[in-house]
Amino acid sequence: MRLPLAAFPLAAALVAGPAAFAAEPCGARPGAAEERAAQMLGALSQSEKLSLVHGVLGAPWGGRPKPEGSVGSAGYVPGVPRLGIPALQQTDAELGVANPGDIRRGDTATAMPSNLALASTWDLALARRQGESVGAEARAKGFNVLLGGTANLIRDPRGGRTFEYFSEDPLLTGLMAGAAIEGAESRGVLSTVKHFALNDQETDRKRLDVRIDKATARESDLLAFEIAIERGRPGAVMCAYNRLNGDYACENPWLLNDVLKGDWAYQGFVLSDWGAVHSTARAAMAGLDQESGEQADSRRYFAALGQAIAAGRVPQSRLDGMAGRILVSIFACGLADDPAKTQAFDPKAVAATARRIEQEGAVLLRNDGVLPLPATLRRVLVVGAHADRGVPSGGGSSQVIPRGGIALKELEGANRAMVFDPSSPLEALRRRLPAAEIDNDDGLDAERAAGKAAGADAVVLFVDQYLSEGADAPNLALPNGQDRLVERVARANPRTIVVLETGGPVLMPWLDRTAAVLEAWYPGQEGGEAIADVLVGLADPSGRLPVTFPAGEAQLPGSIASASSRSAGRGARDDPPPVSYPEGASAGYKWYDERGVRPLFPFGFGLSYTTFRLADLTARVEGARVTAAIAVTNTGARPGAAVPQLYVTGPAGSGVALRLVGWSRVEIAPGETRNVEVDIDPRLLATFDEGARRWRIARGAYSLSAGFDASRRDLSAGIAIDAAELPP
Ligand code: BGC
Repeated sequence: MRLPLAAFPLAAALVAGPAAFAAEPCGARPGAAEERAAQMLGALSQSEKLSLVHGVLGAPWGGRPKPEGSVGSAGYVPGVPRLGIPALQQTDAELGVANPGDIRRGDTATAMPSNLALASTWDLALARRQGESVGAEARAKGFNVLLGGTANLIRDPRGGRTFEYFSEDPLLTGLMAGAAIEGAESRGVLSTVKHFALNDQETDRKRLDVRIDKATARESDLLAFEIAIERGRPGAVMCAYNRLNGDYACENPWLLNDVLKGDWAYQGFVLSDWGAVHSTARAAMAGLDQESGEQADSRRYFAALGQAIAAGRVPQSRLDGMAGRILVSIFACGLADDPAKTQAFDPKAVAATARRIEQEGAVLLRNDGVLPLPATLRRVLVVGAHADRGVPSGGGSSQVIPRGGIALKELEGANRAMVFDPSSPLEALRRRLPAAEIDNDDGLDAERAAGKAAGADAVVLFVDQYLSEGADAPNLALPNGQDRLVERVARANPRTIVVLETGGPVLMPWLDRTAAVLEAWYPGQEGGEAIADVLVGLADPSGRLPVTFPAGEAQLPGSIASASSRSAGRGARDDPPPVSYPEGASAGYKWYDERGVRPLFPFGFGLSYTTFRLADLTARVEGARVTAAIAVTNTGARPGAAVPQLYVTGPAGSGVALRLVGWSRVEIAPGETRNVEVDIDPRLLATFDEGARRWRIARGAYSLSAGFDASRRDLSAGIAIDAAELPP
């Protein structure tokens, strides 16, 4: 039976509305999924609708085995087999398919480099490929929901999930997350975008109350989500743990109803983070559509939704809306047409993607000419960070059990173990430099390592830092005496190359003593190979920093430190510690620029083995549409990839501080010039007027600048822009 759309409040509500972008989740044909969802809703019983809006942990819990039918992972929502609605098999996520606690005995997966490494590539096609790879692997394991798409901003590099996040900039974050989501969904999984919103720090994340002006949020964190949603069309949005201006994110009507579903006309569903729900009626009425892994909450809130409806606290139409949105995404993402089932996929192709990301994403921060390592080297010493065994990874729900098995677990205190992926940089270097004698030292005794270093032609010194979901880093110093190790080794041998395997920015008190520094991030399970490729010059280092490296912690706005100290000693029932972000919308490089502070390494920075020059910056302005063009030349002797960046600063009083408005990653042969054109998103020229719920562009003379990082913008051009208003 076909019923008209208007017969269902859900369908009517979804078709109407401000519709900033009309397409459905997963980029499906507009209208088709709504129509199917509306029909399906009519066929579902009340208990079937109720069962769609809450899920359980997909793992054994409380002495019970994993739920029947669950593949074994973070979450499971039973389907409605009689009507062909598949169960939702939810897995983490964006750094590879997780297997928490080894629920699926012995099931390994490709461990990708961290998202920070991916963002360092500034390569949207590669981000899409990463999503395709993880999506395909998830699908092959029987999952149809990927809990990926992190679009939170890095406001403070001490944040525990810095490695899982993309950047400090909303445009770079939104486009990267969007590309990865789109890639995953192209492989038949429904992807989320998370953690909506302002989950920018980890310690006490379940109680923190982020206080932020709404317009400021729209111009920063929310803009990253808005762009990620427009580009990626995720089937679901995962609301975060923290409170936002007093209300928990998963029961925040402004965030979920007004912004997401109202202003942005988002048509997919909102699911909670695991343990982020605090109420039944309040959360449902604020816009939460599905409670995830309900045992993680203090009560099974949405299991009680039927009673709330019977008691008149939640209208039936709201349950229809919740179930309807879930169905829209199920249909739009094709889950009902092609149920996830175990199928073959190509692990070699996925591993090649992991390797490519690290090759492109490693950032060369310093090089006095020692790199690339020449094949003529006779004696090389490799020191530290278990480089003989593998490469480190970050902790928490994104942790993957790597294909080939865990190389090593290094304990980092109670319940925290740093997992090493099985790709040994030492072995990879030995294969690439067969004429050299390559010795190894574990770096545990700085004096011994320095003694061995003295006689080497070059020293490659690996250092690491562990970051994990759930807790912020206490500081930005390398842990476990590694600063001293670098200091001692570099003093003993000035041809010391430091390879950083860190979750995010760290301080480098020893920087001037070293010959080269390569930031390799958490490099994934092909990491050793990719790092060696870059060190010997088989790959040109083309990574550029997606996050500023401060010269000292005093340069940071400081919210993490103040929140942590305020929350220390509080009991679980105390008021949630408030967090305010002094930098407002000016996260990262904007903060440094406004204060005239020079960081250690600026946003956008990264060296190559060749050199580039920019010329001919021009701009075309038509109303609020600005298109900028620039020519980039490879002035060196080797091929390489340049990442010219465009920034805008508004006139006084416009509220537009320095903003990244576009970039392009271009591979250029020596002597070649390539022209790059960038369309500027008009929202990046605007500020948000919360009262009128509109973006406003102020009339005036804007400055467009181009350069190779946020603080080195060699070219600039003035552009005159008229006042304009844009829908939210
Ligand atoms: C994390 C999410 C993750 C979820 C399920 C939560 O602790 O914040 O990112 O998707 O767990 O594992």
